[in-house]
Amino acid sequence: MKTIIFFILVYLAYRVIKSSITVKTIRWPQETSKEEPPVKASEEMVFDEVCNSYIPAVTSISVKNGDRIFYFCGEECKKKFLETRHV
Ligand SMILES: [Zn+2]
Repeated sequence: MKTIIFFILVYLAYRVIKSSITVKTIRWPQETSKEEPPVKASEEMVFDEVCNSYIPAVTSISVKNGDRIFYFCGEECKKKFLETRHV
């Protein structure tokens, strides 16, 4: 009899955790593998030399200079970089 109560409690706890997780969008290890396929490209980080910070490659702006590629977080950083390069 105790085991049945235990399983009910576990099930209820699981439901509470599951619902709270979906609200807070915290990853639930058992479900993330099914729902979210690993997206490698979006996790790739590139370095912005102008503001000295790492930004996701997907949202970055890239400028090719010779055989080097420079990445920037936005148009402003790109502009600053190009201005300092030409001076
Ligand atoms: Zn920047």
